[in-house]
Amino acid sequence: MNSQVEIHTEQAVPVNTGGADVVLACRGLRKSYRQGNRELEVLRGVELEVKRGEKLAIVGASGSGKSTLLNLLGGLDTPSSGEVWVADQNLSELDANQRGWLRNRSLGFVYQFHHLLGEFSALENVAMPLLIGKQAVSRAREEATEMLRAVGLGERLTHKPSQLSGGERQRVAIARALVTRPACVLMDEPTGNLDRATAKEIHKLMERLNGEMGISFVIVTHDPDLAAALDRCLHLIDGKLEHAGENRV
Ligand code: ADP
Ligand code: MG
Repeated sequence: MNSQVEIHTEQAVPVNTGGADVVLACRGLRKSYRQGNRELEVLRGVELEVKRGEKLAIVGASGSGKSTLLNLLGGLDTPSSGEVWVADQNLSELDANQRGWLRNRSLGFVYQFHHLLGEFSALENVAMPLLIGKQAVSRAREEATEMLRAVGLGERLTHKPSQLSGGERQRVAIARALVTRPACVLMDEPTGNLDRATAKEIHKLMERLNGEMGISFVIVTHDPDLAAALDRCLHLIDGKLEHAGENRV
């Protein structure tokens, strides 16, 4: 394994940024899909830099490529051309195994639908990325418990997803994304399926964790209030990211 993507569980948080100010970046990112006998070019040269601690919104029409972009940024899919950098690592220079390690350690994901494992408890779901990262079971349980308490679910540790409300499930998903203390969390419409009050709670929680841990957030959202509350808002249009507003000078 590449020494630069080794797991350092004892390091201060967030880890694996190599001290870089830019935690996630892409350059000239292009992605095409084959649809029948034609090629659909979804991303046509996306440029992006996410700074440490920055909270970024990405907005755009349905089908404009927002999920495609998040998946590429997270190394879940590979671009047709262009580069994705996680701190000082060019993803295309890593093999699949190294990419997996880096992703598990440096990035967190929250999907539109929570993607929790139904047969496992909240605690087990949140501990999973730590166990995949080869952390000892007792330590993983401790850290997962701490993170579930932080999202206000200290009383729900043994509940399974089916025993939780939509907002609670999404908070478990957020706890799971944060438990490795990643440099950056990517969220795909995290509050899209929640009522306004719950969406607000989730937003408050994100702000608190951002303040306490300095984690960066890239959030795809349809919620104009959420987009306006973040540091920057970018619009994905015609396969490129355009500046849609600076919310903080
Ligand atoms: P958004 O998240 O903005 O709604 P997506 O990134 O999901 O958009 O999709 C962008 C476009 O790419 C859509 O036209 C979609 O049909 C197409 N697309 C997405 N994933 C695939 C795939 N795996 N194969 C073929 N076409 C895809
Ligand atoms: Mg989408």
